[in-house]
This record gives sequence, structure tokens and C-alpha cells, in this order.
Amino acid sequence: MEPAVPTLTLVCGPMFAGKTTELIRRVECARAGGRRVLVAKPARDVRYAPDAVVTHAGSRELAVAVHDLRELAPRAVRHDLVAIDELHFFADGAVAPIEGLLAAGTSVVAAGCDIDHFGDVFAPFDSLLPRAHEVCRISGTCARCGGPSTHSERLTPLRERIVVGGIGDFVATCARCFRPSTR
Ligand SMILES: [Zn+2]
Repeated sequence: MEPAVPTLTLVCGPMFAGKTTELIRRVECARAGGRRVLVAKPARDVRYAPDAVVTHAGSRELAVAVHDLRELAPRAVRHDLVAIDELHFFADGAVAPIEGLLAAGTSVVAAGCDIDHFGDVFAPFDSLLPRAHEVCRISGTCARCGGPSTHSERLTPLRERIVVGGIGDFVATCARCFRPSTR
């Protein structure tokens, strides 16, 4: 039988929607099916643990921390699936390495915020969404009106686009309640 075509799956949405939980669920499903999975995260995200992907609720999965997704190519050999958390931290630099993994026969599932705190589409999702085989866009709850959340609002203004944030730095809101950061 021919090996399966490698696929790109994107899990996106605002902060606190459960993206990492969904990523970990997919890792567990793949492992249950006998697939070899490598989990990766940005090295600059050390909020909860330097060597693990951790949900806000506390579940965790061991992960390699990388500064650049190009570091994954040699590590991904002999893996069927690479799972990447906080994809937006890698910005446009994520596109070529992910295409390289797919071309080498490794599937990719990646989770991250697809809208930044200015309200703009967040790289690399602008480039990768049309290339994905499956997009799982999830919502949480708007902190102001209780409707479905789509945006991540920075509570303390900041000009940087990529920010390591946790509870207290951001709230998730719907588009109507969202107050964008100003540049
Ligand atoms: Zn709202």
C-alpha cells in the first residue's frame, strides 16, 4: 500500500479557546493509532514549562522547544506527525519549514492565534490557511458579552505584535466587543 499523503491541519482561534487542548487531543489520537509524533513549541514561550506544551487548564505533553522551525527537519525523521503549538510565534518563518516537512512525507498539525491584538490576520495563517487540508477554528467565550470569542485583546497596550501572554495580559472577545491595540 502507498503511504498516506501527508496532511496539514490548522487549529486556530483566539486565546483561551482551547487550541492547545485540541492539539494535545490530536496528538493522543495519532499516538493511539500507532503514529510517531514529535511535539514542538517556540523556545521563547516558557510560561508554564520549558520542555512541554501545557494548556491553561494544566494538561501537558513533552515538547522540543525550538527558536526556528527549520530545526525540526532533522528531528522529524522517523516521525509521522509533527505537532506545533503557538504557531503565530514563528510568523512568516513557519511557512517554508512546514512545506518542507510535508514534502518529506511528515504530516503537520499546528495550533495558534489567527488574529493578532491589532485585529489583523496573524502570519503565518494568512499563508497557510489556503494550503491546509483541514482547518479547525474554535471559539471560547467573549469576556464582555458572553458570546463566542474570535479575538484576543491585549489589556495593557503594547506595540509588539508577538507577545507571550497568559491570563491577565489578554482577554478573548467577540468582534463587536473587541478593542484593538493602537500602533
Ligand atoms: Zn462580545
